[in-house]
Amino acid sequence: MGRDIPLGRIAGIKVGMNVSVLIIAGLNAWILADNNFPILVPGLTPTDYWVAGVVGALAFFASLLVHEVGHALVARQEGIGVRGISLWLLGGVARLESSPRTPGAEFRIAVVGPLASAACGVALLSAAYVAPDTGRWDLAGTAAAWLGTLNLVLAAFNLLPAAPLDGGTVLSALIWWRTGNQSAGKLWAARSGVVVGLAMAWWGLQHMGGNESGGYGIWVLAVGGFIAMNAWQAMRAAPLFTALEGVRVIDAMYASPPIARAGDTVADFLRSLPRDTHHQYYPVVGDHGRVNGLLTADAIRAVPSTHWSSLRTVELAYPLDRLTVVSPDEPLLSAVQRMDSGDVRTALVVDPHGRTVGTIDPRALQDAVTARANT
Ligand SMILES: [Zn+2]
Repeated sequence: MGRDIPLGRIAGIKVGMNVSVLIIAGLNAWILADNNFPILVPGLTPTDYWVAGVVGALAFFASLLVHEVGHALVARQEGIGVRGISLWLLGGVARLESSPRTPGAEFRIAVVGPLASAACGVALLSAAYVAPDTGRWDLAGTAAAWLGTLNLVLAAFNLLPAAPLDGGTVLSALIWWRTGNQSAGKLWAARSGVVVGLAMAWWGLQHMGGNESGGYGIWVLAVGGFIAMNAWQAMRAAPLFTALEGVRVIDAMYASPPIARAGDTVADFLRSLPRDTHHQYYPVVGDHGRVNGLLTADAIRAVPSTHWSSLRTVELAYPLDRLTVVSPDEPLLSAVQRMDSGDVRTALVVDPHGRTVGTIDPRALQDAVTARANT
């Protein structure tokens, strides 16, 4: 979800969407205007159907947004910063800056999304119920009924107790609450996610052909595959999660990385780099000592060496807004979760005085796990 199209802010929270949303909205509008609405409410003009189709398709994404804003607002109430909300092909995601510290907070943040969808569903179905049964009003009521039903279905689907769905997080929080063991909660939600995802993908495969359910089969296959893959990753991460409980960022980070100055060329920087350094990530620091990006050894290697003397470090670096910034005293696990939700799986460790004191990447995590296993 790297390149979001910005849509503005809701309650101060950045909202963006992936270009895939436009494709799905267009497809939805077309199916509604060309097929569903003319059958359900005959006798109106194509313009009427298209207006209703486009408004209905856009309102669908607006209702997904209501769901995600629900997550984001409750997270903020629980003292957790929100990086932003992204809409994409299979729905939306509210990216949080850290993970909840208590099972209660985790439960509340997760459950509010489906509740918001259910509330949208009930409101839209009520509107459909009171709309007059004639002409364009009938069409508007039909569109509202379609969207209301879809929201209720989404609420129920999201409550399935399977990671990464909201219901999976609810299950995980409940196990955490009952047993005091956060890892166990995550592991069971992930296992359940693999089973539910594979079952959905199987069903989708069986229903790919044929006219009556052909359109839905491929959709269920895609969503099921996505759930199974996500849950599989979460299951594989579970031992890491157990191993890292109680470890802080400062215990695992690569300390004192070589600093690249923003104004220098890549060639200048490489000349200043100690020959025997084991660091692969280099914070880029501007004039006032403020960090504004991260240069990686991989990025340098990807550019022909003939360009090194004309390219500035800051031009080649990942900009700050695509990086995760963590503090040295933060639990390593919450840092890892924030890194996973970011674009680049590397974090800058910045102390309370704004100084960059280290970097963390998957290799550093692996080292921390090994160190833990050996003590
Ligand atoms: Zn949700």
